Amino acid sequence: AEELMARSEQLSVAGQLAAGIAHEIRNPLTSIKGFLQLLQAGVNREEEYYKIMVDEIEKIEKITSELLFISKPMTDYKKIENVSEMINDVVTLLAPQAKLKNIILLWEQHNGQSVICDRSQLKQVFINLLKNAIEAMDRPGSITINNYLKNNEIYIDIIDEGTGIPDEIMTKLGEPFFTTKQNGTGLGLMITRHILERHGGKLEALRNKTLGSTFRVILPTP
Ligand code: ADP
Ligand code: MG
Repeated sequence: AEELMARSEQLSVAGQLAAGIAHEIRNPLTSIKGFLQLLQAGVNREEEYYKIMVDEIEKIEKITSELLFISKPMTDYKKIENVSEMINDVVTLLAPQAKLKNIILLWEQHNGQSVICDRSQLKQVFINLLKNAIEAMDRPGSITINNYLKNNEIYIDIIDEGTGIPDEIMTKLGEPFFTTKQNGTGLGLMITRHILERHGGKLEALRNKTLGSTFRVILPTP
């Protein structure tokens, strides 16, 4: 195991989040305000400006909806669920996105373990990780998903053949708003970690021997 994401435990998560939210929302707001002022002054590039403003508003929407997800209570919704079934749903959901990039999803459904969880939250974990895996691939290849039982814990490995994780980024994973992507929010891994903690589980990021990285989810058995 290369490294566990521990950074956000050192700093106050709430403090990081507040600063991050303020920053990430202020930027698009400043830009929207600027374009509104230009429109008010009567420029004649309305169509272009409206498009930019809608993009900026969508950025804010994306951030706020991801943040709302964290604040959802979940203890009341914990039930016994089948891990394989959930992964299967997520693979089906993201298969078109993978296909567009000529990525093969290698997933063998076998009798999955049971886990006590909030189904929609745990599915969100697999969505976040599989999406990242797909986004990390800059050429055709495959993503393998393995789930198995080890030391009486449930393991789910998502193994990609993507660009991998450079050293300087390893410690930043899971920090709110840390992203290397043009259209990223940098909230996916933080939310993932958060959901897993609420389930008594954890997330590990590992470097593959050959190509890409592996994100490993470990969950307790019921
Ligand atoms: P986002 O996907 O919006 O950038 P995440 O929290 O999901 O936010 O991921 C944060 C960053 O971690 C990514 O921008 C990327 O640099 C890195 N990362 C996450 N998953 C992978 C992966 N499978 N391979 C390489 N880098 C990854
Ligand atoms: Mg992501």
